[in-house]
This record gives sequence, structure tokens and C-alpha cells, in this order.
Amino acid sequence: MSAIRESSTAVAPVAEPATCLLCGSARRVPHFRGDASPQPVSPVSERYRITHSERRLVHRIVRCLDCGLVTLPIDETPPVSYEEAADPYYLQQAPERIANAHRLLSLLPSAGRLLEIGCACGFLLVAARERGFAVQGVEMSAWASAYARDTYGLAVHTGTLEAARLPADSVDAVVLADVIEHLFDPRATLAEIHRVLTPGGRLLLLTPDIGSAVARAAGARWWGLLDDHYVYFSRATLGRLLAEEGFAVERSGSLGRAFPLGHWVFKLAPYSRILHDLAARAVRAAGAEQWQISLNFGDQMACVAQKR
Ligand SMILES: [Zn+2]
Repeated sequence: MSAIRESSTAVAPVAEPATCLLCGSARRVPHFRGDASPQPVSPVSERYRITHSERRLVHRIVRCLDCGLVTLPIDETPPVSYEEAADPYYLQQAPERIANAHRLLSLLPSAGRLLEIGCACGFLLVAARERGFAVQGVEMSAWASAYARDTYGLAVHTGTLEAARLPADSVDAVVLADVIEHLFDPRATLAEIHRVLTPGGRLLLLTPDIGSAVARAAGARWWGLLDDHYVYFSRATLGRLLAEEGFAVERSGSLGRAFPLGHWVFKLAPYSRILHDLAARAVRAAGAEQWQISLNFGDQMACVAQKR
């Protein structure tokens, strides 16, 4: 474990012009201390990949002293061109991702009309369709949205949720999986979701939980800290934002995921190249790359909230 620890509230607030997007406070402090050196960020020209294997871990996140919301300072957030994102490696994970989607969707009580925001190549929508939902998606990546339409025949709008101009009260369920942490204005997105949901409709949300025991123990080494993750919720901060935007949280818990062993080894790369190379060699030698391994670190927060 590194010497980096959560900072105490005695640390002087970071001079940042923007205020907390949850409570409006300007009183924010570094979330970690001990390593003040700026982390190198990914080259801006690098094409964004959904599996973000080449992204960097970040340390310089800040915490609001008044509400506890954690964000990456905007001026240290590299611009990400989601429109140009393409990731052939992601396609290899289709079977596991569809199976994981079934696990997530089991949290929704019934079928109906389902919208996924940031649906990528459509794997979750395929699972939702198999479960009886009438599905549609929005996705910024031209490559991923075309894949979803061409491969699975899904109704996917290329662009943002706002640009899709969906009618009010037109969907029964909205899924926001691994998306909200990328948004600079999650409040605006939740307001738009609230508008398109039918009264009593449900939002299913999946995001890293910075308040989880694993995130707290791992500190600045937590794998949820990526330079394309702008906002880091805990159950408390997410619950507050949802309540303020007209949602009542019905249930929340942690969700595990299953991936081939080769993928878990792949995720080691940002931590230790040596460890990654050793593990990759051992897994290859054992022919174990495709072994399905299900892990739940308790730091992926799944939440179902109902439109009030
Ligand atoms: Zn705040």
C-alpha cells in the first residue's frame, strides 16, 4: 500500500473556479495526500476505447467538504472523443457482457419499453430484448452504434440523449450502466431521464462506488480511478442527487461481474507491468485465458430508482 491516504479536512481547499455540482460549495480538498505530482494523462489523440485498457489511474481527485462528492478537476480531465470511440477488443467480450447484462437486468421488476443510454455495441439491449423488453438505445460512438444496428438490428440513435429528442413519458425503464461517472453534468442527464420516463418508471444505474470498503482500502490504487471518470459517487452522494432530481431509490447494492481470466489479467496492466506479464504468461501456458471467473469486489454500485 502506498503512503497516500485520504486527506483530513484540515487541508486547504483546492483553488478551482467551478463549484461542487451536487451542493454548489466551493470548499473542496484533495481526496488523497502524499503524492502531489500530476499524473500523466493519456495522449489526447489516442482513440478512446470502451475497455479503456490504456487509460491511466488518477490521484488528483477532489472532495467537497460540504456534501462529500468527489470529482476529477475539469482542467485535469483530458477531452475524450466518445464520438470516435472504437474498440475491437470489446467485441470479443460479447458473450460475457450479455451474460453480465442479464445479471444487472434481473434487478428490474418487469418488462416494458427500455432505453439504454451509452449502449455501446448493444450487448445489454440484446439481453433486455431476450427478457421481453421493447428496447432502444442512444450511443455517441458512430462505430459502436452502427455495430448495434447492423449486427443485432437494434434501434440505436447515434448521439447524445438530449439530441435524440425522445417524447416525454415514453419509456418504462432507463439503464445507465458505467456511464454517469463520465458525465460533466450528471444532473442534466438525470433531469432528461426523468422527463422521458413514465410516472413510476425506473432508472437502473451502475457506477463505481468510491465509498465502498474496497475503494477506501485501495486508496489511490483503486481501479475505479480513471482519467475518463469525472465524477465519483458514493451511495450517499448518488442518493442525494437522485432524490433532488425526482427519484426514489428502491434498492441499491453491489454487483459482481464475470469475465474470462485473460480479461482480469489484462486489467492488471496499469498497476504493474511486471505482474501483468508474469500472470499473462502463466495463464497462457495453462490455457486458462477463457476460463470464466466471476468476481465481486463490492465496489460496483447497482441502484434502482423510481420516478416519483
Ligand atoms: Zn458538494
